[in-house]
Amino acid sequence: MRILLPLFGLVTILSAYDFALIPKRVTPEVICFFGEPDVMNTTNNGNMVNTCYIDTKKSYVVIDSGSSYAYANSAYKEMQKIKALPVELVINTHVHDDHWLGNGFFAQMGVRVLGSDDFIHNARIDSPSRIQTHISPEAYALTIPTRPTEMISSDKMLKIGSLELQLHLMKKKAHSDKDLVVFLPKSKTIFAGDLVFNDRLPSLTGGDINGWIDALEELKKLEATTIIGGHGFRTDKKAAEMTYNYLTDMRTQVRAAIVSGISIDETVAKVTMPKYESYRMYKTLHRGNVEVSYRMLEWE
Ligand SMILES: [Zn+2]
Repeated sequence: MRILLPLFGLVTILSAYDFALIPKRVTPEVICFFGEPDVMNTTNNGNMVNTCYIDTKKSYVVIDSGSSYAYANSAYKEMQKIKALPVELVINTHVHDDHWLGNGFFAQMGVRVLGSDDFIHNARIDSPSRIQTHISPEAYALTIPTRPTEMISSDKMLKIGSLELQLHLMKKKAHSDKDLVVFLPKSKTIFAGDLVFNDRLPSLTGGDINGWIDALEELKKLEATTIIGGHGFRTDKKAAEMTYNYLTDMRTQVRAAIVSGISIDETVAKVTMPKYESYRMYKTLHRGNVEVSYRMLEWE
């Protein structure tokens, strides 16, 4: 026993933090990991984002690498238990750090990582990220912020095995400066990134309410039957409705307040939208969302 104890200690130190992620099959070819619909903290340690694996039959395509090296490692390990396939490509939907800080895990394996050219301007790789300051050091260990190896500035069509992937870049600032959406035309599946939230409120900080509504209207035209957002559990064809209704309701009410000459403070106090009170993060995000919308819409 005395001989075994030091050995056990060594193994514990060397193994990466284990998120014990639970894979959920969404379609015959898509398995996702759904995070807590909450802010990153030391309870979820960054498991508050959705990431997915698409089975191309010969390899996996990963949609968003998650919030850390350890997160990406945990998801990869779970997928290897289901089917041992190599990861051929990782796609990043946008520059917010909970969606791509796992890139380093894949880059060290030589995997191609693709994202929009917004990563050149808006991906923070040299300062402590939000994730780094909000989760435990063990969960963040080994994370090296790594930009995509290939950055695109226009839409792209990819064929991997028998799988066709359409990469659509939103034309205007929406949730972020440049949101990338992945569409699988055969199965009518959309990976919408943070254009779609469920079970919690979205944050409008850094986004544009008009561009975001326009982007969701563009997505509607694809007539998807499966819509997977960046946060929240819903994935059916109506999964984009909560975000769309929240944004359009807010725009209507804030525009009306501006037209009536109501001040920003009064508008924030008045536009409470109680229908959304039961959603997670209402208390921390809603007032700020009304304020951001007012500042944007008063210039129309
Ligand atoms: Zn985001």
